[in-house]
Amino acid sequence: MAKRTENHCTFCGLPESQAGTLVHGLNGLICANCARSASEIFSDIEREAHNPRRLYEDKVPTPHEIKTYLDQYVIGQDEAKRVLAVSVYNHYKRIRYFDTVHANQSKNAKNGGGVDSPVEIDKSNIIIVGETGTGKTLLARTIARMLNVPFAIADATTLTEAGYVGDDVENVLVRLLQAADYDVQAAERGIVFIDEIDKIARKSDNPSITRDVSGEGVQQALLKLLEGSVVNVPPQGGRKHPEQKLVAVDTRNILFLSGGAFDGIERNIASRLKSNVVGYGGSKTRESIDKHNMLQYVEPMDLKRFGLIPELVGRFPVLTYLKPLDRDALVRILTEPRNALVKQYQELFRMDGVSLEFDDEALALVVDKAMESKLGARGLRGIMESLMLDYMYDLPSLHHEGKLLITKDMAEQKLK
Ligand code: ADP
Repeated sequence: MAKRTENHCTFCGLPESQAGTLVHGLNGLICANCARSASEIFSDIEREAHNPRRLYEDKVPTPHEIKTYLDQYVIGQDEAKRVLAVSVYNHYKRIRYFDTVHANQSKNAKNGGGVDSPVEIDKSNIIIVGETGTGKTLLARTIARMLNVPFAIADATTLTEAGYVGDDVENVLVRLLQAADYDVQAAERGIVFIDEIDKIARKSDNPSITRDVSGEGVQQALLKLLEGSVVNVPPQGGRKHPEQKLVAVDTRNILFLSGGAFDGIERNIASRLKSNVVGYGGSKTRESIDKHNMLQYVEPMDLKRFGLIPELVGRFPVLTYLKPLDRDALVRILTEPRNALVKQYQELFRMDGVSLEFDDEALALVVDKAMESKLGARGLRGIMESLMLDYMYDLPSLHHEGKLLITKDMAEQKLK
Protein backbone atom coordinates (compact mmCIF):
# COMPACT_ATOMS: atom_id res chain seq x y z
CA MET A 1 0.00 0.00 0.00
CA ALA A 2 1.32 3.45 -0.91
CA LYS A 3 2.34 5.55 2.09
CA ARG A 4 0.06 8.53 2.60
CA THR A 5 2.11 11.71 2.08
CA GLU A 6 1.95 14.10 4.99
CA ASN A 7 0.68 17.70 4.59
CA HIS A 8 3.16 20.51 5.19
CA CYS A 9 2.68 24.17 6.14
CA THR A 10 3.19 26.14 2.92
CA PHE A 11 4.84 28.95 4.90
CA CYS A 12 7.35 27.25 7.22
CA GLY A 13 7.42 23.83 5.60
CA LEU A 14 6.87 21.92 8.85
CA PRO A 15 4.93 18.66 8.52
CA GLU A 16 1.49 18.45 10.11
CA SER A 17 2.80 15.99 12.70
CA GLN A 18 5.06 18.73 14.09
CA ALA A 19 3.18 21.88 13.22
CA GLY A 20 -0.24 20.73 14.46
CA THR A 21 -3.51 21.41 12.67
CA LEU A 22 -3.10 23.03 9.26
CA VAL A 23 -5.74 25.34 7.79
CA HIS A 24 -6.42 24.76 4.10
CA GLY A 25 -6.54 27.62 1.65
CA LEU A 26 -7.13 27.44 -2.09
CA ASN A 27 -3.49 26.80 -2.91
CA GLY A 28 -1.82 26.07 0.36
CA LEU A 29 -1.86 25.30 4.03
CA ILE A 30 -0.94 27.32 7.10
CA CYS A 31 -0.01 26.27 10.61
CA ALA A 32 -1.02 28.06 13.83
CA ASN A 33 2.47 29.52 14.32
CA CYS A 34 2.65 31.04 10.85
CA ALA A 35 -0.92 32.36 11.15
CA ARG A 36 0.02 34.05 14.41
CA SER A 37 3.15 35.60 12.88
CA ALA A 38 1.10 36.85 9.92
CA SER A 39 -1.45 38.36 12.29
CA GLU A 40 1.32 40.17 14.18
CA ILE A 41 2.69 41.57 10.94
CA PHE A 42 -0.76 42.89 10.00
CA SER A 43 -1.20 44.44 13.46
CA ASP A 44 2.16 46.20 13.11
CA ILE A 45 1.20 47.55 9.70
CA GLU A 46 -2.13 48.76 11.05
CA ARG A 47 -0.56 50.34 14.12
CA GLU A 48 1.96 52.13 11.95
CA ALA A 49 -0.80 53.42 9.67
CA HIS A 50 -2.57 54.90 12.71
CA ASN A 51 0.60 56.19 14.28
CA PRO A 52 0.21 59.92 14.94
CA ARG A 53 3.86 60.43 14.07
CA ARG A 54 3.12 59.14 10.58
CA LEU A 55 0.00 61.19 10.31
CA TYR A 56 1.98 64.38 10.27
CA GLU A 57 4.12 63.06 7.46
CA ASP A 58 1.03 62.39 5.36
CA LYS A 59 -1.11 64.99 3.72
CA VAL A 60 -2.30 67.62 6.15
CA PRO A 61 -6.10 67.92 6.02
CA THR A 62 -7.03 71.39 4.83
CA PRO A 63 -9.19 73.69 6.96
CA HIS A 64 -12.07 73.02 4.54
CA GLU A 65 -11.68 69.26 4.99
CA ILE A 66 -11.54 69.63 8.76
CA LYS A 67 -14.70 71.73 8.77
CA THR A 68 -16.52 69.30 6.48
CA TYR A 69 -15.66 66.48 8.85
CA LEU A 70 -16.88 68.47 11.86
CA ASP A 71 -20.13 69.25 10.02
CA GLN A 72 -21.02 65.56 10.09
CA TYR A 73 -21.12 65.49 13.86
CA VAL A 74 -21.60 69.03 15.12
CA ILE A 75 -24.60 71.14 14.15
CA GLY A 76 -24.13 74.86 13.52
CA GLN A 77 -21.31 76.69 15.32
CA ASP A 78 -19.74 77.60 11.99
CA GLU A 79 -17.53 80.35 13.35
CA ALA A 80 -16.01 78.07 15.98
CA LYS A 81 -15.53 75.31 13.41
CA ARG A 82 -13.65 77.62 11.06
CA VAL A 83 -11.45 78.92 13.86
CA LEU A 84 -10.73 75.39 15.09
CA ALA A 85 -10.04 74.14 11.57
CA VAL A 86 -7.45 76.84 10.96
CA SER A 87 -5.81 76.37 14.35
CA VAL A 88 -5.56 72.65 13.91
CA TYR A 89 -4.21 73.05 10.39
CA ASN A 90 -1.56 75.44 11.66
CA HIS A 91 -0.80 73.07 14.49
CA TYR A 92 -0.06 70.32 11.98
CA LYS A 93 2.15 72.58 9.95
CA ARG A 94 3.94 73.75 13.06
CA ILE A 95 4.76 70.17 14.06
CA ARG A 96 5.96 69.36 10.58
CA TYR A 97 8.15 72.43 10.58
CA PHE A 98 9.43 71.53 14.04
CA ASP A 99 10.39 68.03 12.81
CA THR A 100 12.10 69.36 9.68
CA VAL A 101 14.07 71.98 11.57
CA HIS A 102 15.18 69.45 14.14
CA ALA A 103 16.20 66.95 11.49
CA ASN A 104 18.23 69.63 9.67
CA GLN A 105 19.82 70.83 12.86
CA SER A 106 21.02 67.40 13.82
CA LYS A 107 22.30 66.80 10.26
CA ASN A 108 24.21 70.11 10.33
CA ALA A 109 25.58 69.42 13.77
CA LYS A 110 26.80 66.00 12.61
CA ASN A 111 28.51 67.61 9.62
CA GLY A 112 30.17 70.11 11.94
CA GLY A 113 28.14 72.98 10.45
CA GLY A 114 26.61 75.85 12.39
CA VAL A 115 23.03 75.76 13.56
CA ASP A 116 20.79 78.65 12.41
CA SER A 117 18.11 79.70 14.78
CA PRO A 118 14.83 78.97 13.02
CA VAL A 119 11.63 80.97 13.19
CA GLU A 120 9.61 79.84 16.19
CA ILE A 121 6.00 79.22 15.26
CA ASP A 122 3.76 79.69 18.27
CA LYS A 123 1.24 77.11 19.31
CA SER A 124 -2.40 77.75 18.59
CA ASN A 125 -4.05 76.66 21.85
CA ILE A 126 -7.72 77.53 21.84
CA ILE A 127 -10.29 78.71 24.37
CA ILE A 128 -13.93 78.10 23.50
CA VAL A 129 -16.47 80.17 25.39
CA GLY A 130 -20.02 78.85 25.30
CA GLU A 131 -22.97 77.89 27.43
CA THR A 132 -23.13 74.37 28.78
CA GLY A 133 -24.27 71.70 26.30
CA THR A 134 -23.57 73.70 23.15
CA GLY A 135 -20.84 71.45 21.80
CA LYS A 136 -17.47 72.43 23.30
CA THR A 137 -16.45 68.93 24.29
CA LEU A 138 -18.05 67.45 21.20
CA LEU A 139 -15.94 69.70 18.94
CA ALA A 140 -12.73 68.82 20.75
CA ARG A 141 -13.51 65.11 20.73
CA THR A 142 -14.48 65.12 17.06
CA ILE A 143 -11.30 66.89 16.03
CA ALA A 144 -9.20 64.39 17.95
CA ARG A 145 -11.01 61.51 16.29
CA MET A 146 -10.46 62.98 12.86
CA LEU A 147 -6.76 63.46 13.47
CA ASN A 148 -6.48 60.07 15.08
CA VAL A 149 -4.32 61.44 17.87
CA PRO A 150 -4.50 60.59 21.57
CA PHE A 151 -7.11 62.72 23.28
CA ALA A 152 -7.77 63.38 26.94
CA ILE A 153 -10.36 65.44 28.77
CA ALA A 154 -9.50 67.04 32.08
CA ASP A 155 -11.94 68.79 34.34
CA ALA A 156 -10.31 71.94 35.65
CA THR A 157 -12.48 71.87 38.78
CA THR A 158 -10.79 68.69 40.01
CA LEU A 159 -7.31 70.13 39.67
CA THR A 160 -5.43 71.62 42.56
CA GLU A 161 -1.99 73.01 43.11
CA ALA A 162 0.63 70.41 43.99
CA GLY A 163 0.50 69.58 47.65
CA TYR A 164 -3.24 70.04 48.11
CA VAL A 165 -6.01 67.47 48.10
CA GLY A 166 -7.18 66.79 44.56
CA ASP A 167 -5.61 66.06 41.22
CA ASP A 168 -2.18 67.44 40.48
CA VAL A 169 -2.05 69.24 37.16
CA GLU A 170 0.35 66.55 35.87
CA ASN A 171 -2.54 64.11 35.98
CA VAL A 172 -3.89 65.76 32.85
CA LEU A 173 -0.91 64.25 31.08
CA VAL A 174 -1.40 60.90 32.78
CA ARG A 175 -4.77 60.64 31.05
CA LEU A 176 -3.18 61.55 27.74
CA LEU A 177 -0.50 58.90 28.25
CA GLN A 178 -3.19 56.34 28.99
CA ALA A 179 -5.08 57.36 25.85
CA ALA A 180 -1.84 56.85 23.91
CA ASP A 181 -1.31 53.37 25.38
CA TYR A 182 1.78 54.78 27.08
CA ASP A 183 3.42 55.63 23.76
CA VAL A 184 5.14 58.80 24.98
CA GLN A 185 5.91 60.12 21.50
CA ALA A 186 2.28 59.74 20.44
CA ALA A 187 1.09 61.46 23.62
CA GLU A 188 3.46 64.33 22.90
CA ARG A 189 1.39 65.08 19.79
CA GLY A 190 -2.00 64.61 21.35
CA ILE A 191 -4.83 66.94 22.18
CA VAL A 192 -5.91 67.83 25.71
CA PHE A 193 -9.28 69.38 26.37
CA ILE A 194 -9.47 71.26 29.66
CA ASP A 195 -13.12 71.62 30.53
CA GLU A 196 -14.60 74.22 32.89
CA ILE A 197 -11.55 76.45 32.73
CA ASP A 198 -13.82 79.28 33.93
CA LYS A 199 -14.23 77.53 37.28
CA ILE A 200 -10.60 78.18 38.20
CA ALA A 201 -10.95 81.92 37.73
CA ARG A 202 -9.89 84.14 40.59
CA LYS A 203 -12.89 85.16 42.53
CA SER A 204 -12.15 88.87 42.24
CA ASP A 205 -10.41 90.99 39.69
CA ASN A 206 -7.68 91.90 42.17
CA PRO A 207 -4.91 89.42 42.79
CA SER A 208 -5.57 88.01 46.23
CA ILE A 209 -3.16 88.35 49.12
CA THR A 210 -4.25 85.08 50.67
CA ARG A 211 -3.52 81.91 48.77
CA ASP A 212 -6.19 80.87 46.37
CA VAL A 213 -5.80 77.10 46.24
CA SER A 214 -8.46 76.24 43.73
CA GLY A 215 -8.21 79.26 41.50
CA GLU A 216 -5.09 81.22 40.77
CA GLY A 217 -2.78 78.52 42.10
CA VAL A 218 -4.16 76.03 39.59
CA GLN A 219 -3.87 78.55 36.80
CA GLN A 220 -0.20 79.00 37.68
CA ALA A 221 0.30 75.24 37.73
CA LEU A 222 -1.41 74.87 34.34
CA LEU A 223 0.94 77.45 32.86
CA LYS A 224 3.77 74.99 33.26
CA LEU A 225 2.02 72.53 30.94
CA LEU A 226 0.96 75.15 28.46
CA GLU A 227 4.32 76.84 28.21
CA GLY A 228 5.80 73.78 26.59
CA SER A 229 8.20 72.15 28.95
CA VAL A 230 9.27 68.69 29.92
CA VAL A 231 6.96 67.56 32.69
CA ASN A 232 7.65 64.51 34.82
CA VAL A 233 4.52 62.44 34.99
CA PRO A 234 3.74 59.54 37.34
CA PRO A 235 2.43 57.02 34.78
CA GLN A 236 -0.11 55.53 37.21
CA GLY A 237 -1.24 58.98 38.25
CA GLY A 238 -1.91 60.29 41.74
CA ARG A 239 0.41 60.17 44.68
CA LYS A 240 -0.59 56.71 45.79
CA HIS A 241 2.41 55.04 44.20
CA PRO A 242 5.39 57.08 45.34
CA GLU A 243 7.75 54.35 44.13
CA GLN A 244 6.70 54.60 40.45
CA LYS A 245 9.23 55.84 37.93
CA LEU A 246 8.37 59.20 36.41
CA VAL A 247 7.95 59.52 32.67
CA ALA A 248 9.19 62.71 31.01
CA VAL A 249 6.59 64.19 28.67
CA ASP A 250 7.47 67.13 26.44
CA THR A 251 4.36 69.32 26.12
CA ARG A 252 5.71 71.55 23.33
CA ASN A 253 3.61 69.91 20.62
CA ILE A 254 0.51 69.04 22.59
CA LEU A 255 -2.48 71.07 21.48
CA PHE A 256 -4.49 72.40 24.40
CA LEU A 257 -8.13 73.26 23.91
CA SER A 258 -10.15 74.56 26.76
CA GLY A 259 -13.75 75.42 27.27
CA GLY A 260 -15.95 77.14 29.75
CA ALA A 261 -19.39 78.65 30.12
CA PHE A 262 -18.01 81.81 31.78
CA ASP A 263 -21.38 82.54 33.36
CA GLY A 264 -21.92 86.27 33.60
CA ILE A 265 -19.11 87.22 31.20
CA GLU A 266 -21.76 88.92 29.05
CA ARG A 267 -21.77 91.71 31.62
CA ASN A 268 -18.02 92.31 31.13
CA ILE A 269 -18.47 92.24 27.38
CA ALA A 270 -21.44 94.57 27.48
CA SER A 271 -19.74 97.13 29.68
CA ARG A 272 -16.65 97.08 27.49
CA LEU A 273 -18.71 97.50 24.34
CA LYS A 274 -20.72 100.26 25.95
CA SER A 275 -17.65 102.24 26.91
CA ASN A 276 -16.27 101.72 23.40
CA VAL A 277 -19.48 102.96 21.86
CA VAL A 278 -19.67 105.96 24.17
CA GLY A 279 -15.98 106.74 24.31
CA TYR A 280 -14.51 106.36 20.88
CA GLY A 281 -17.42 105.58 18.65
CA GLY A 282 -15.90 102.11 18.06
CA SER A 283 -16.77 100.01 15.07
CA LYS A 284 -20.02 98.83 16.65
CA THR A 285 -22.93 101.14 17.21
CA ARG A 286 -25.25 100.38 20.07
CA GLU A 287 -28.00 99.30 17.66
CA SER A 288 -25.81 96.85 15.79
CA ILE A 289 -24.98 94.87 18.94
CA ASP A 290 -26.79 91.54 19.00
CA LYS A 291 -27.80 91.34 22.66
CA HIS A 292 -28.99 87.74 22.36
CA ASN A 293 -25.53 86.53 21.56
CA MET A 294 -23.02 88.66 23.42
CA LEU A 295 -20.41 85.90 23.47
CA GLN A 296 -19.60 86.59 19.82
CA TYR A 297 -17.88 89.81 20.93
CA VAL A 298 -15.69 88.10 23.54
CA GLU A 299 -12.08 89.27 23.71
CA PRO A 300 -9.10 88.21 25.81
CA MET A 301 -9.53 91.19 28.13
CA ASP A 302 -12.99 89.93 29.09
CA LEU A 303 -11.45 86.64 30.21
CA LYS A 304 -8.94 88.56 32.32
CA ARG A 305 -11.70 90.56 33.93
CA PHE A 306 -13.50 87.32 34.58
CA GLY A 307 -10.52 86.15 36.61
CA LEU A 308 -8.11 84.29 34.36
CA ILE A 309 -4.54 85.46 34.90
CA PRO A 310 -3.03 87.32 31.93
CA GLU A 311 -0.26 84.74 31.50
CA LEU A 312 -2.83 81.98 31.08
CA VAL A 313 -4.95 84.00 28.65
CA GLY A 314 -1.74 84.70 26.72
CA ARG A 315 -1.11 80.97 26.35
CA PHE A 316 -4.42 80.56 24.53
CA PRO A 317 -3.91 82.83 21.54
CA VAL A 318 -7.07 81.62 19.80
CA LEU A 319 -10.39 82.59 21.31
CA THR A 320 -13.73 81.56 19.90
CA TYR A 321 -17.33 81.23 21.02
CA LEU A 322 -20.30 78.93 20.61
CA LYS A 323 -23.81 80.18 20.02
CA PRO A 324 -26.62 79.23 22.35
CA LEU A 325 -28.64 76.52 20.62
CA ASP A 326 -32.11 77.55 19.44
CA ARG A 327 -35.09 75.26 18.74
CA ASP A 328 -34.09 74.68 15.13
CA ALA A 329 -30.58 73.67 16.11
CA LEU A 330 -31.90 71.25 18.74
CA VAL A 331 -34.23 69.57 16.23
CA ARG A 332 -31.32 69.21 13.84
CA ILE A 333 -29.15 67.79 16.63
CA LEU A 334 -31.83 65.18 17.31
CA THR A 335 -31.97 64.05 13.71
CA GLU A 336 -29.00 65.04 11.54
CA PRO A 337 -25.55 64.17 12.96
CA ARG A 338 -24.12 60.81 12.04
CA ASN A 339 -24.87 59.51 15.50
CA ALA A 340 -28.00 61.59 16.13
CA LEU A 341 -30.21 60.33 18.96
CA VAL A 342 -33.13 59.56 16.63
CA LYS A 343 -30.83 57.47 14.43
CA GLN A 344 -29.55 55.62 17.49
CA TYR A 345 -33.05 54.68 18.69
CA GLN A 346 -34.04 53.69 15.17
CA GLU A 347 -31.08 51.36 15.04
CA LEU A 348 -31.94 49.83 18.44
CA PHE A 349 -35.53 49.21 17.31
CA ARG A 350 -34.44 47.90 13.93
CA MET A 351 -32.54 45.14 15.74
CA ASP A 352 -35.90 43.99 17.09
CA GLY A 353 -37.43 44.24 13.63
CA VAL A 354 -39.35 47.45 14.26
CA SER A 355 -39.12 50.53 12.10
CA LEU A 356 -39.28 53.57 14.38
CA GLU A 357 -40.46 57.00 13.25
CA PHE A 358 -41.16 60.27 15.03
CA ASP A 359 -43.73 62.92 14.18
CA ASP A 360 -42.20 66.37 13.79
CA GLU A 361 -44.51 67.57 16.54
CA ALA A 362 -43.29 64.88 18.90
CA LEU A 363 -39.71 66.00 18.32
CA ALA A 364 -40.77 69.61 18.81
CA LEU A 365 -42.11 68.66 22.22
CA VAL A 366 -38.83 66.99 23.16
CA VAL A 367 -37.02 70.16 22.10
CA ASP A 368 -39.39 72.33 24.20
CA LYS A 369 -38.55 70.27 27.25
CA ALA A 370 -34.84 70.59 26.50
CA MET A 371 -35.16 74.35 26.20
CA GLU A 372 -36.91 74.44 29.59
CA SER A 373 -34.13 72.42 31.20
CA LYS A 374 -31.51 74.98 30.09
CA LEU A 375 -29.01 72.15 29.63
CA GLY A 376 -28.55 72.82 25.94
CA ALA A 377 -28.37 69.71 23.79
CA ARG A 378 -27.18 67.80 26.83
CA GLY A 379 -30.78 67.68 28.06
CA LEU A 380 -32.02 65.87 24.93
CA ARG A 381 -30.70 62.47 25.86
CA GLY A 382 -32.49 62.24 29.20
CA ILE A 383 -35.76 63.43 27.70
CA MET A 384 -35.58 60.91 24.86
CA GLU A 385 -34.85 58.17 27.40
CA SER A 386 -38.00 59.06 29.38
CA LEU A 387 -40.00 59.12 26.19
CA MET A 388 -38.72 55.80 24.88
CA LEU A 389 -38.31 53.81 28.10
CA ASP A 390 -41.73 52.12 28.12
CA TYR A 391 -41.50 51.28 24.43
CA MET A 392 -38.04 49.81 24.86
CA TYR A 393 -39.23 47.85 27.90
CA ASP A 394 -42.11 46.25 26.01
CA LEU A 395 -40.48 45.92 22.62
CA PRO A 396 -38.59 42.61 22.95
CA SER A 397 -41.63 40.79 24.43
CA LEU A 398 -44.04 41.87 21.73
CA HIS A 399 -42.58 39.42 19.23
CA HIS A 400 -44.12 41.18 16.33
CA GLU A 401 -42.40 43.12 13.66
CA GLY A 402 -43.70 46.33 12.22
CA LYS A 403 -43.73 50.03 12.57
CA LEU A 404 -43.85 52.35 15.56
CA LEU A 405 -44.72 56.00 15.03
CA ILE A 406 -44.20 58.27 18.02
CA THR A 407 -46.87 60.97 17.82
CA LYS A 408 -47.25 64.22 19.70
CA ASP A 409 -49.94 62.66 21.94
CA MET A 410 -47.70 59.76 22.85
CA ALA A 411 -44.86 62.14 23.62
CA GLU A 412 -47.12 64.35 25.73
CA GLN A 413 -48.28 61.39 27.75
CA LYS A 414 -44.79 59.98 28.37
CA LEU A 415 -43.23 63.34 29.16
CA LYS A 416 -45.99 64.61 31.45
P1 ADP B 1 -20.35 71.35 26.41
O1 ADP B 1 -20.46 72.58 25.58
O2 ADP B 1 -20.96 71.55 27.78
O3 ADP B 1 -18.98 70.76 26.45
P2 ADP B 1 -20.99 68.95 24.99
O4 ADP B 1 -20.13 69.14 23.83
O5 ADP B 1 -20.53 67.96 26.03
O6 ADP B 1 -21.33 70.32 25.71
O7 ADP B 1 -22.46 68.55 24.52
C1 ADP B 1 -23.28 67.64 25.21
C2 ADP B 1 -23.99 66.75 24.22
O8 ADP B 1 -24.93 67.51 23.49
C3 ADP B 1 -23.04 66.18 23.16
O9 ADP B 1 -22.61 64.90 23.49
C4 ADP B 1 -23.90 66.13 21.92
O10 ADP B 1 -24.63 64.94 21.89
C5 ADP B 1 -24.88 67.25 22.09
N1 ADP B 1 -24.49 68.49 21.38
C6 ADP B 1 -24.19 69.67 21.95
N2 ADP B 1 -23.97 70.60 21.03
C7 ADP B 1 -24.12 70.02 19.83
C8 ADP B 1 -24.02 70.47 18.47
N3 ADP B 1 -23.70 71.74 18.18
N4 ADP B 1 -24.24 69.57 17.49
C9 ADP B 1 -24.56 68.29 17.78
N5 ADP B 1 -24.68 67.81 19.03
C10 ADP B 1 -24.48 68.64 20.05
